[in-house]
Amino acid sequence: MLPERTDVLVVGAGPTGLAVAATLAGHGVTATVVDRLATPPVTSRAAVVHAGTLEVLDRIGVAAPLAARGLPSRRFTVRERDRVLLTVPFDRLPSRYPYALLVSQAETEAVLADRLAALGGRVLRPYELTGLDLDGGGATATFAGGEKVRTRWVVGADGMRSPVRELAGIDFGGPTDPGESFLLADIRVDSALPRDQVNLFLAPRGPLVWAPLPDGTVRVVASVPDAPREPQARHFQDLLDERGPARRPDRVTDVRWSSRFRIHHRIAGTYRSGPVLLAGDAAHVHSPAGGQGMNLGLRDGVALGDTLAAVLAGGPDALLDGYAAARRPLAEEVLGFAAGLTRLTAVPPATRPLRDLLLRGASVLPPVRQRLAVRLAGFEPTGR
Ligand SMILES: Cc1cc2nc3c(=O)[nH]c(=O)nc-3n(C[C@H](O)[C@H](O)[C@H](O)COP(=O)(O)OP(=O)(O)OC[C@H]3O[C@@H](n4cnc5c(N)ncnc54)[C@H](O)[C@@H]3O)c2cc1C
Repeated sequence: MLPERTDVLVVGAGPTGLAVAATLAGHGVTATVVDRLATPPVTSRAAVVHAGTLEVLDRIGVAAPLAARGLPSRRFTVRERDRVLLTVPFDRLPSRYPYALLVSQAETEAVLADRLAALGGRVLRPYELTGLDLDGGGATATFAGGEKVRTRWVVGADGMRSPVRELAGIDFGGPTDPGESFLLADIRVDSALPRDQVNLFLAPRGPLVWAPLPDGTVRVVASVPDAPREPQARHFQDLLDERGPARRPDRVTDVRWSSRFRIHHRIAGTYRSGPVLLAGDAAHVHSPAGGQGMNLGLRDGVALGDTLAAVLAGGPDALLDGYAAARRPLAEEVLGFAAGLTRLTAVPPATRPLRDLLLRGASVLPPVRQRLAVRLAGFEPTGR
């Protein structure tokens, strides 16, 4: 049952909201966490957790149990059909987790929820936020069943379409067209590609990501002009034939899960408006190239949990302006990086040899490879 009053109301129990709540719980603060879904989703969605994120999750006791459920990927490889253009190894990362961890988002959420439960917290379901009245002392939240909760702080961790952001009137500017279209699936595939790496295939009609998952399937994500409503095995076979290995082509034998989504590159105008704080997809969305979206949200979540705990312990509210001011530029950087990866694909045929030369050049320069590894792994300047 919902309480009448709380210090912190976290709206949304995806990875971001769970990270906020588990971090607060680690500081001894019990937040009220709500989600409109009756049960957590079981689908795989975001499939990679990077080393920089694992380091942050380590602080809240989540990295080790998560690592135990995932498959470590030791390198990231950029290819064009059979040619390897760039290899970025993760094994020299300054981390106890020197790899990209392949793990389904459902597992990531389950481990975060377990940690929250171990610290005495839980998610209240199904409660859908429908209204938010803001005033000088906090906010009054209204739910679909008519319930009301008075709260000092509201965390909008309620995803890309964030009702919290909308109700608080925070801008999420950007074009009005439907956005870039992606097709994705977890497939079984006969493949000669090594299973210890994530591959990004650059192709004239768009990139294709090939990432091995712990259950023996492969996550395929491809940018496509118009994704079918119910993607079938033949759609993924066609994409692999068009963009994947040519000499020893992949053969799709089964589709375990598939989906499609459209996305824009957008950042909220501000991460804080009075008692409202945004984190995760509610604050930023961008293409899945490089697998950065959920990672940034998880790191937002821990940063926000730490900051809210400091404020509730008597620190100045201005600390939360610091959260907002520090995190937004990080999202801008990640958006720029994801856009750059997408642009690598969109290079016109005449310029492709130059692109390939540059990538191969980067591949033989260890400092460049290391910088790319650190960037992909999501290490952030300390204190943000
Ligand atoms: C099909 C699919 C595939 C994806 N693949 C990738 C990928 O390969 N790589 C990648 O980086 N990212 C991927 N993403 C994006 C990734 O899933 C998100 O970045 C991540 O889930 C963001 O976490 P979040 O907690 O911020 O928001 P979400 O996971 O969206 O969680 C928001 C939560 O808020 C709840 N909520 C919303 N409105 C209300 C309300 N009014 N009241 C109460 N609760 C509410 C929702 O039920 C939800 O549980 C994918 C997403 C989808 C849908």
